Amino acid sequence: MPRPNRFYDVIRIGPVQVGSHYDGHGRTKHTAACTAPGCGFSADYRDRSAAELAARTHHCNP
Ligand SMILES: [Zn+2]
Repeated sequence: MPRPNRFYDVIRIGPVQVGSHYDGHGRTKHTAACTAPGCGFSADYRDRSAAELAARTHHCNP
């Protein structure tokens, strides 16, 4: 299933990238995704601040 790739305002906090995108239903979602190899953390949030908070407090699994 193709994922929409329309992220904007992408920032990096440590190994985690936070980006916002439209979900195609008139809403904006905010995704935090860890880029560290083997971590695999990724989550969607309704609030940008929540996504950034998750990125700041994220700790990779060893
Ligand atoms: Zn991680």
